[in-house]
Amino acid sequence: MIVNARIEKLIEILTNKGISDSRVLQAIRVVPRDKFVAPGMEHKAWEDQALPIGYGQTISRPSSVALMTQHLNINRNDRILEIGTGSGYQAALLCELGAQVFSIERIKELSLKAQKTLNALRYHCIFKIGDGTLGWQQYAPFDGIIVTAGAPVTPDTLMGQLKNGGRLIIPVGNKRNEQILTLYVKKDDGFESQEIDTLSFVPLIGRKGW
Ligand code: SAM
Repeated sequence: MIVNARIEKLIEILTNKGISDSRVLQAIRVVPRDKFVAPGMEHKAWEDQALPIGYGQTISRPSSVALMTQHLNINRNDRILEIGTGSGYQAALLCELGAQVFSIERIKELSLKAQKTLNALRYHCIFKIGDGTLGWQQYAPFDGIIVTAGAPVTPDTLMGQLKNGGRLIIPVGNKRNEQILTLYVKKDDGFESQEIDTLSFVPLIGRKGW
């Protein structure tokens, strides 16, 4: 199958799984996922699969990435904090949607590789190597925060760095390999929360993680 046909097949899978935001689907079309997977894995880049990226970590499956991105409901120039840069694919999608992206990764080698990939594709994102469970106070408050690793509980630090009306999407649960994808929306008088789906992410490791 030629690449465009593979991409459209993936778009069809995502649509069947309930991804309806045309901006998110268009960003998935445009961002070349094959540039973010490990060498030798390019032929699997357009399948709805998580793939290894080294250091025991993964690039998440496109349907999970699309679902989380859809729930962030991004507007142009929104300030979005991502915890878990990994390959940089999610960060590139957020840039493609016009967000100002701040992304934290705890594994230096992954962050440096992701920075190279995004630079080569001309996506501008601000990166940090460190423990994302503490957030990034210097650039807070954020319109949205996306956590791409599974947390035992929702870090209060991240909730405290959201704007009013801001959205936090995070997989949470007391099992290391299965979480409930949860959306929090900050209101004047607290947080509204909604459980979206059951997913499986690698663990969020840090002061406010595992
Ligand atoms: N968003 C990534 C992408 O598009 O490729 C996928 C991320 S992978 C599922 C989760 C990432 O979170 C891993 O790279 C892992 O090292 C990172 N991680 C885990 N705990 C972290 C923490 N406390 N701070 C920052 N990154 C963390």
